[in-house]
Amino acid sequence: MKIIVNQVPAEGLYLEEEIDPAELDLETDLIKSRSNLKIKAQVYRITNALTVKLNIRASLGADCSRCLEEFGWEFNKDAQLSFPLDSDITFIDLNPSIREEVILDYPIKPLCKITCKGLCVKCGKNKNEGGCNCAIT
Ligand SMILES: [Zn+2]
Ligand SMILES: [Zn+2]
Repeated sequence: MKIIVNQVPAEGLYLEEEIDPAELDLETDLIKSRSNLKIKAQVYRITNALTVKLNIRASLGADCSRCLEEFGWEFNKDAQLSFPLDSDITFIDLNPSIREEVILDYPIKPLCKITCKGLCVKCGKNKNEGGCNCAIT
């Protein structure tokens, strides 16, 4: 998502765009995307700066850190950014900032649910799917 500086009117500019996660280089071992990112941006120009109110939505996937199953979750974040302007700057590329906002909020230890029981340390069975015989002692 790019903002052409001299196309931002005094009353501000509203932009909506869908971005392929591949364009943001967001597909990593950790981060899984299940949809395009839906970006809404309200842009204001204030003398020597551009203020951008962002809303980022996406369906993401993650591997549960306890049971290792992949699960999906809805990312939805508001962020406010500010970019200083000078006469050399003709456009602002928001993609690096969008990427950063997603990575910042990505859980380090994702859980499919708070009550996830994880895997049995003895037999490796997913305990969310029922007990295993190891539990009976
Ligand atoms: Zn889990
Ligand atoms: Zn077991």
